Amino acid sequence: MTAKRLISIHWFRQDLRLSDNPALSEAIESGDILPIYILDDINSNDNKMGEASRWWLHHSLSNLNKKLGGKISFYNGDPKEIFNKLSEQYDVKSIYWNRCYEPWRIKRDKDLKKDLEEKNIHIETHNGSLLWEPWTVLKNDGTPYRVFSPYYKRGCLEAPAPREPIQEPSLSNIVSNLFDSLSLDDLDLLPDVGWYEDMENLWSPGEDGAKEKLHKFLDYGLLGYKEGRNFPAKKNVSQLSPYMHFGEISPNQVWYGANMKEGVKGIADDLKHFLSELGWREFSYSLLYHFPSLPKENLQKKFDNFPWQENKKVLDRWKKGLTGYPIVDAGMRELWQTGYMHNRVRMIVGSFLVKNLLLHWHEGEKWFWDCLIDADLASNSASWQWVAGSGADAAPYFRIFNPITQGVRFDPEGEYTKKYVPELKDLPSKYLYSPWEAPDDILSEANIILGDNYPKPIVGIKESREKALSAFDKIRIK
Ligand code: FAD
Repeated sequence: MTAKRLISIHWFRQDLRLSDNPALSEAIESGDILPIYILDDINSNDNKMGEASRWWLHHSLSNLNKKLGGKISFYNGDPKEIFNKLSEQYDVKSIYWNRCYEPWRIKRDKDLKKDLEEKNIHIETHNGSLLWEPWTVLKNDGTPYRVFSPYYKRGCLEAPAPREPIQEPSLSNIVSNLFDSLSLDDLDLLPDVGWYEDMENLWSPGEDGAKEKLHKFLDYGLLGYKEGRNFPAKKNVSQLSPYMHFGEISPNQVWYGANMKEGVKGIADDLKHFLSELGWREFSYSLLYHFPSLPKENLQKKFDNFPWQENKKVLDRWKKGLTGYPIVDAGMRELWQTGYMHNRVRMIVGSFLVKNLLLHWHEGEKWFWDCLIDADLASNSASWQWVAGSGADAAPYFRIFNPITQGVRFDPEGEYTKKYVPELKDLPSKYLYSPWEAPDDILSEANIILGDNYPKPIVGIKESREKALSAFDKIRIK
């Protein structure tokens, strides 16, 4: 009998990059490395990736596989069974991976580690996705922070500085699989219906696309970020969220990359603000880690009695961007067409769903989960709880975004709104966010027939706001 080939494995997960990949670099130091990717729709249960994420993942893996000379082995199923099979085929010395923080992944990885160590396989895990892992930032009494400001200022900024990025390793130890594995296409990640064709012109998933986005942002977006990030038509946001979610760029690369701009005249406040947004990402992960029920349960229990309504027709109109409120409709259509939505508009459409329509934040969270290319269990559930007011450090319940004034203030010329709601392109700015107030002759000049080619408002703003406030009063949220 011939001896089995001695190898180690790097298991790619949310770290689809070669540079600043601590687990991969360590693995490569240790000898021959088989790189693998496992699509695990088994342990993820309710947290199975949505359609837009699958589209992104397909292209990201394709890009990574090219960089690795086509040597990634793809698998679909339960990692436990896949590693059992691999250890029958090879003499597996060690398995390396970067840690993940979703409750289902933590559970799976813990079980797996125990199982593999019992088989005398060495498991080595690293931090490749966070600036500060959740258990390293705690209050003096050892409990987790629930409020962002002290978490970030006292917790993160006073903790040891994040690890500096490391170089891409030499790939000479990467080996091909001697046995059968699946091809990327076998993972069947691309949706059956070709809704994603336009997205292929908008995004370049993968490590190179991530670096390009970062450099473009640092050169043209960072200066003016603090103010400009509120305006969806401006180019002041980085659009790095999907790249960071899939680990095509690490937060460390972004953090230190941004800090390189420290000397630019007039940039100090913008830089500080941008770094604090990376802090919000860290905070979301900390919340998810310390409060693993975050995606399912209100962090503030008094919200369990909130009289959420159920109304599929209204929900469908929100999803399709047919609410009759132009800034809300623009956001929902941006999401559908591009897989992304600007942060300011996420807050507006979120507030509209839970406060004006009184629909449960779970409905919004689920829709975002399916449609966002940056759908992220930590950031999505923490942000939805923030919008609903049910989270740890949430928007107060009486903060109900007014979609009319938000539009007027943050998209005054309607550049963003008209891009996604082109049926309003000839409506003068004065009426853009309240078309029902426009006189008949103005509507007819703009070729708008309300209730026909653009909807009448789905609810009245004043009445729905009052209804929401009285519903909040009923559960005595003071
Ligand atoms: P930039 O302004 O350039 O910020 C840089 C990075 O900081 C982002 O890429 C992101 O990683 C992080 N960041 C910025 N704002 C936040 C925030 N409020 N919370 C957490 N991280 C932040 N973000 C996701 O990555 N995935 C989600 O599923 C998600 N769902 C959201 C749902 C709702 C209802 C809301 C209100 C926000 C959600 N966010 C989510 C947060 C935020 O909207 C996005 O991270 C941001 O819009 C991404 O765009 P950007 O990369 O251009 O951000």
